[in-house]
Amino acid sequence: TEELVRKSEKLEIVSHLAASMSHEVRNPLTTTRGFMQLLYEDVAMQKGKPYLEIALQEIDRATEIINDYLMFAKPAPVTIEKVDVLKEIQSTIQIMTPLANMNAVQINLSFSQRGTYFIIGERKKLQQCFINILKNGIEAMPTGGELQVSLLSNDTDIQIEIRDTGIGMTSSQLNRLGEPYFSTKGAKNGTGLGMMVAFSTIKGMNGEIRVTSKVDKGTCVFIQIPLYQ
Ligand code: ADP
Ligand code: MG
Repeated sequence: TEELVRKSEKLEIVSHLAASMSHEVRNPLTTTRGFMQLLYEDVAMQKGKPYLEIALQEIDRATEIINDYLMFAKPAPVTIEKVDVLKEIQSTIQIMTPLANMNAVQINLSFSQRGTYFIIGERKKLQQCFINILKNGIEAMPTGGELQVSLLSNDTDIQIEIRDTGIGMTSSQLNRLGEPYFSTKGAKNGTGLGMMVAFSTIKGMNGEIRVTSKVDKGTCVFIQIPLYQ
């Protein structure tokens, strides 16, 4: 067990380090992108345009990876707190609405007024997890559709269901879901990190996550997390 404890301590240090690095690296990326965009628009730079185009794409890719991995990560200590899942879902829907509108996707939320939706965990990580799952749902419906988010709770658990009417997955794709760098969106649009982050976050909260999917019908993500007692 001592070995196990040391291993989990190490993992914690690594994930903390990753969080600080994401945060620190984003600022220089943004600055560099700004200056390169200026060069790109400069008529004297005509000859260099193809190179700048590639450089800009690569910078955007680096930023995407950081966003999927830890959008809100700050080099702050891990804070375990009582989290209102309903509130987090509502704010995630708000964050994702511009992307949904661009894809003609309607996001609906249903929950019971009498339910309580408190859990114990890291609020920002949970929101990152919801963002990654909602983003996948929206991206699975490029020509529009409906993203249904439902929230339920019983005496012991809270249940979240995120259902889309999108392109779905084959069973072999479903099997690889959550594998680091598994993506069908191509190097330009996918990182293959979103679901890995979602799975590890839910697991870290002693929860469970299950996914069902049918090609051309859609995908459903079920999440169950122990209720705060
Ligand atoms: P990314 O979105 O960057 O590709 P993810 O880890 O978020 O990486 O998802 C991995 C892959 O799983 C996606 O490329 C896609 O093939 C599949 N996938 C995930 N969610 C859905 C969904 N809601 N509908 C269809 N396919 C999905
Ligand atoms: Mg994704």
